Amino acid sequence: MNTVCDEKMCSGCRACINVCSQKAIEIIETISEYNAVINLDKCINCNACRKVCQYNVQPKFRTSIFWKQGWAKEDGSRNKSSSGGLAYEIEKGFVESKGRVYSCIFKDGEFQFSCIDKVEELEELRGSKYVKSNPKYVYREIAENLKKGFKVLFVGLPCQVASLVNFVGDNENLYTIDLICHGTPSPLLLQEYLLDHSMKLENIFTIKFRDNHNFHLEINNSSLSGKRILDSYMLVFLRGCSYTENCYYCKFARKERISDVTLGDSWGSMLSVNEQRKGISLILANTEKGRWMINNSAVELRDVDLENAIRNNQQLNHPTSLPLEREKFFDNIYKGKSFESAVIRAYPIQHVKNIVKRVMIRMKLLK
Ligand SMILES: Cc1cc2nc3c(=O)[nH]c(=O)nc-3n(C[C@H](O)[C@H](O)[C@H](O)COP(=O)(O)OP(=O)(O)OC[C@H]3O[C@@H](n4cnc5c(N)ncnc54)[C@H](O)[C@@H]3O)c2cc1C
Ligand code: SF4
Ligand code: SF4
Ligand code: SF4
Repeated sequence: MNTVCDEKMCSGCRACINVCSQKAIEIIETISEYNAVINLDKCINCNACRKVCQYNVQPKFRTSIFWKQGWAKEDGSRNKSSSGGLAYEIEKGFVESKGRVYSCIFKDGEFQFSCIDKVEELEELRGSKYVKSNPKYVYREIAENLKKGFKVLFVGLPCQVASLVNFVGDNENLYTIDLICHGTPSPLLLQEYLLDHSMKLENIFTIKFRDNHNFHLEINNSSLSGKRILDSYMLVFLRGCSYTENCYYCKFARKERISDVTLGDSWGSMLSVNEQRKGISLILANTEKGRWMINNSAVELRDVDLENAIRNNQQLNHPTSLPLEREKFFDNIYKGKSFESAVIRAYPIQHVKNIVKRVMIRMKLLK
């Protein structure tokens, strides 16, 4: 295979297809890996794709100016988000300052990017989508907006931010936020899970992966497994078993960052249990632009113990370790087993625990 970056190391960020003038690249996507394959009949060997790829280019890692934990001032906003609602508040401040925000929405069965310049449309962005998003041709669109003089904020996964920066170069009007990232499964794998429930992504209107501290899938506003049961999609996600191959070698899993602001969960926070229940984000200002974005938003900030925060968030130290169960899990799906039975074979003990929990909830022995 003639690929843009090393085989199986593609993150699907799609910067290469944005830069290729010959339409010579195809992203080959499977449930367990991505590859950007070059069609040699069309390729003119300009090398632009390799130069823009986040995997090939060493990014400029920065030491943060400050680390804080915090949340949206407005309780309603905090409740609706994945952790403290900081992303929404920063995006709102940015749009109110006449900027345009690009981030991930779920639309027409795809986790794609949308450009938002009205506060009332920002709600669409809320929530972590624990799956690979697809930037499509958004890098070109952002470059055009920057050329026209618009201020643009891009909020996405670190690999996407890195490729965007390679694509547009240093630009004073480009602002970036990256999320601390555990790893991402392919949407094709999510589709496998939905098939067990006779559903298709393209027929779904809404999908939620998390309700503050509760990690579970909610499709069209209804939970498939019961709210207090860890469904099998989230089980393999949280066990770090379902990501595409490249994520286990991710270079962005460290405390030095590549964006203006980094957001994550303030795991291990020493603030009160009540505060933790409401959701607390971790926030890193990595540049002066980042400091400005934070100051320009309606957020409450508190000091955070840096060492404790790093200790409790492994993605600030190293990528997710490849679990032994991963091979078994994917092998079974490739052999035609359902998602659920592949999970049972990979994690039998967890599966039995879930059955017991479900029975106890039904018998009202567990709240
Ligand atoms: C795949 C993934 C893995 C994560 N892993 C960790 C982790 O290991 N540790 C940790 O501390 N935090 C992790 N996070 C971040 C965490 O889930 C929250 O997003 C973060 O704490 C900010 O929360 P919030 O309430 O401010 O914003 P949220 O309501 O979560 O919104 C975040 C912003 O990110 C965008 N976004 C959501 N999903 C995606 C996606 N798939 N691709 C691109 N953009 C997206 C939204 O559109 C929105 O603009 C992860 C997030 C994702 C998407
Ligand atoms: S080398 Fe140039 S022409 Fe060939 S695939 Fe890459 S960007 Fe396209
Ligand atoms: S630019 Fe992105 S999509 Fe293209 S090869 Fe590199 S990681 Fe894959
Ligand atoms: S783990 Fe790294 S490569 Fe994988 S989606 Fe997250 S940032 Fe991208």
